[in-house]
Amino acid sequence: MPPINLYSDTQTRPSAGMRAAIAAAEVGDEQRGLDPTTLALQERVADLLGHEAGLFLPSGTMCNEIALRLHARPGGDEVLLDRTAHPVNSEAGGPAQLAGLMVRVLDGSRGVFTGLQLEAAVRPAANRYMPRSRLVCVEQTSNLGGGTVWPLSAVRDVLEVAARHGLRTHMDGARLMNAVVASGVAASDFTGGFDSAWLDFTKGLGAPVGAVLVGSRELIAEAWRWKQMLGGAFRQSGIVAAGCLYALDHNVERLAIDHSNASVLAHGLAGLPGVDLDPASVQTNIVMFAVDDAPGLVARLADRVEVQAFDRHRVRAVTHLDVSRDEVERALSAFAEELG
Ligand SMILES: *Cc1c(COP(=O)(O)O)cnc(C)c1O
Repeated sequence: MPPINLYSDTQTRPSAGMRAAIAAAEVGDEQRGLDPTTLALQERVADLLGHEAGLFLPSGTMCNEIALRLHARPGGDEVLLDRTAHPVNSEAGGPAQLAGLMVRVLDGSRGVFTGLQLEAAVRPAANRYMPRSRLVCVEQTSNLGGGTVWPLSAVRDVLEVAARHGLRTHMDGARLMNAVVASGVAASDFTGGFDSAWLDFTKGLGAPVGAVLVGSRELIAEAWRWKQMLGGAFRQSGIVAAGCLYALDHNVERLAIDHSNASVLAHGLAGLPGVDLDPASVQTNIVMFAVDDAPGLVARLADRVEVQAFDRHRVRAVTHLDVSRDEVERALSAFAEELG
């Protein structure tokens, strides 16, 4: 039996229904604005997220990097984000190389910082010794924070402080729809107040390729230049955009199943000896917990359950549409064999 794959929600394979939608996609040359399926997807995501325009990009990483470059100037501008944020840890240093930014990290709680923390970190205006605070980023949900949902009130606090200090604002919505399903808050309520936001289709939504960056028409026109420059412009991208549209129609509400599977996993793990985990902290599909020897546990489990070690102690398990409740129970038995 292949190991149960709790490595990441990026591990999903396109379902038969998604493949049928992909096979039937109408296509054209995307770079010339002639791919009807991509155009439909961009419009749909812009509407969903409460913005004027959208841009289909190959990855969430490219959405973040283009947004950073558009909101700030190279050479002394500073971006403020949580210390766990994806651009800080998982984009190969892109903020330095591609946007030329100083990065200032905030010490949030499970990836969520407060308006007060932001206020304390913003540089005073008109100080030529210091970098210039220019942009703040929020990650919904926080991945390395353990799938934490930024509550709408926390989002609003941060936007209020940002507005007062003239900061630009960006939401990394890699798992935005997990936050929407977990909280019952509309996507546009989370994202509408930001200068830019994006949604990833290759995480819990289960599509093979793609993310959509949204913003004003003007911002998206500028983003197009960077998409072209970085080699992110497509040809017949309707082939993959069709998978994203299918995901919006079929794979959003079902995220609740992933969340309840994660909760079952968390409650089971929390009862095992040597596991440090508060199951109440698990709000979506990510279960982050600590053990004495994370790499050792991951290696010993590898033939039965795939999970990731993030450092010496922390292990991450992620539920998704290719993992059933039964497999979660079997994974728990394997954890119990190793830790019990
Ligand atoms: C996965 C992820 C990204 C990057 O998305 P890709 O599509 O893998 O490039 C950015 N931010 C967060 C929070 C993520 O989890």
